[in-house]
Amino acid sequence: MFRFRPRVHLPRIITNWFLEAIWHIDDGQKTVYLTFDDGPVPEITDWVLSLLKQENIQATFFVVGENAFKHPEVFQRVLEEGHVVGNHTYNHLQGIKTANYEFFKNIEKADKLVKSNLFRPPHGWLTRKQYKFLSIKYKIIMWDVISCDYDKKLPGEKVVKNVLKFVRPGSIITFHDSIKAEKNLRYALPIVIKKLKEQGYSFKKIEFEKIKNIYSHSSINQIINKIKKTA
Ligand SMILES: [Zn+2]
Repeated sequence: MFRFRPRVHLPRIITNWFLEAIWHIDDGQKTVYLTFDDGPVPEITDWVLSLLKQENIQATFFVVGENAFKHPEVFQRVLEEGHVVGNHTYNHLQGIKTANYEFFKNIEKADKLVKSNLFRPPHGWLTRKQYKFLSIKYKIIMWDVISCDYDKKLPGEKVVKNVLKFVRPGSIITFHDSIKAEKNLRYALPIVIKKLKEQGYSFKKIEFEKIKNIYSHSSINQIINKIKKTA
């Protein structure tokens, strides 16, 4: 069993443990990858989407299936505005605290809605076995910079510093479009984007082959009805 506490910057001993997972994407350019976990929720995801649109940035959203189910219009907006979505389980289950069968079933339930080949484990916690099994179907996307925006005790300025201190070309930066992180995110995200642009960074979404996430509104509703029937 393996777990680590979320840290702003992960030591190599951890990244080497999950070698096939993606911690960083080096394409030889000065590129960063903004990622947003735990949404979509109307209270903050809509704001994030408007800011990204204004800044002409595309990002990657690791969606909690239950939230996409509850807020299909926000989820639809994420897709329509060209962002990539990834699976973050249906109920934000933590791998090391969940039996394998229940954990995988929960991820597949989310997959009915999210339909992505990207998976990010809640809190980054997976057992080795879960990691090996999930790697068959999914690219496991971790991060090399976590903003700690969810930490309510942390002032927004510190969230900005966390990112700017550790960012490097190819960084995967984690924010949260969650109510818990809302205050820090609203403060930090516009500043981080501005500073990174000033430093000459460009922004990309995380894409690997076989991403299918373009759905019409009606098909999302159909999928939701199916989930309702099988729940
Ligand atoms: Zn999460």
